[in-house]
Amino acid sequence: MLAIHGGKPVRDSFLSYGKQYIDDEDINAVIEVLKSPFLTQGPAVERFEDAVAKYVGAKHAVAFANGTAALHGAYYAAGVTKGDEIITPAMTFAATVNAALYQGARPVFSDIDKDTYNLDPKKIEDKITERTKAIVSVDYTGQPVDYHSFQKLAKKHHLVFISDGAHSLGATFEGRKVGKQADMTMFSFHPVKPVTTGEGGIVVTDNSVYANQLRLFRSHGITKTEVSEKEGPWFYEMVELGMNYRMNDIQAALGTSQLRKIDEFILKRKKISEQYTTRFQKIPGLITPKQLNHTESGWHLYILQLDLSCFSVGRKEIFEALRAENIGVHVHYIPVYKHPYYRKLGYTSMKTPITEEIYEGIITLPIFPTMTKKDVEDVITSVLKVISEYKIK
Ligand SMILES: *Cc1c(COP(=O)(O)O)cnc(C)c1O
Repeated sequence: MLAIHGGKPVRDSFLSYGKQYIDDEDINAVIEVLKSPFLTQGPAVERFEDAVAKYVGAKHAVAFANGTAALHGAYYAAGVTKGDEIITPAMTFAATVNAALYQGARPVFSDIDKDTYNLDPKKIEDKITERTKAIVSVDYTGQPVDYHSFQKLAKKHHLVFISDGAHSLGATFEGRKVGKQADMTMFSFHPVKPVTTGEGGIVVTDNSVYANQLRLFRSHGITKTEVSEKEGPWFYEMVELGMNYRMNDIQAALGTSQLRKIDEFILKRKKISEQYTTRFQKIPGLITPKQLNHTESGWHLYILQLDLSCFSVGRKEIFEALRAENIGVHVHYIPVYKHPYYRKLGYTSMKTPITEEIYEGIITLPIFPTMTKKDVEDVITSVLKVISEYKIK
């Protein structure tokens, strides 16, 4: 009997959908910083930036206090300002779009591809106006977007191409790590993301002008100029209105230590995803994630799509039944325009029917590097148990 109907749950303890892995090496790296003269942005931040830049093969990396601040920095560096439009998917975390609002820009939501759930390049062009400043894609679940198409569109229409890679550090596109394909790429180091710094984010770019703008914005818009040098050694100038968005050395030391393990983390995520797909792909009513041949996902999320025509109940009931079995399922994401704040701004769902349709049937299953064999089996058992109960016979 289903746990939601009073039966015994598949698991006794709750399994969350994502969780960090911290080992002694990580802990010791943090302790070392605590004993050092620097706690705020210092040498550990520089080391972390160099390590990330090297890992993805980008020229510059600028670390931020969190991924949202990093995105805000990218919009700033791109010159996104009041009245500009940015084109973005709604199937993302609100922060992707909020950070554009911080700059006074107007988000224009464009629909996703029905197989990958990534922003669909074919639908971008009729959204471009003379006010469009940037295309902002999201590597949803860790699967890289169609980078070539967005590069071409950005070039043709003189737009800045920003990639929200919060899910895709370590993922590859045509054999190359994500991070070089867009003009700027943001990665997040929130604890559920590929590697963590507690809170943290970074923007990587090959463009030194963007890198300078990112650094300026991160720290109050303060810099040393030629004037400063004439005035004296104490002198600095605030030349732009920046923020205090700095990452600190404690975060950065953790990040550098975590980054050494990223490929191992992704391999574990990939193995779990393969176990899920093997068990679910032939079951009527379940649609497993479609992967493209030229991409390797970072498997930040594993999304199961329910074909609701096969079940006697909706996604809500199936979701609640899985939670009752102690499986920490989630939904990624509520389309951004559905949030009250965006509705107040006048956004509606009408222009993105695929986003709407996909949203109705998605469930995120737990996936993280330290899941045990039993954890994975429990998820599979619970999904099979719940859907067989609700399947239309
Ligand atoms: C996590 C996330 C962010 C924001 O990152 P934070 O580090 O939590 O600020 C932005 N976009 C997407 C798609 C994310 O998943």
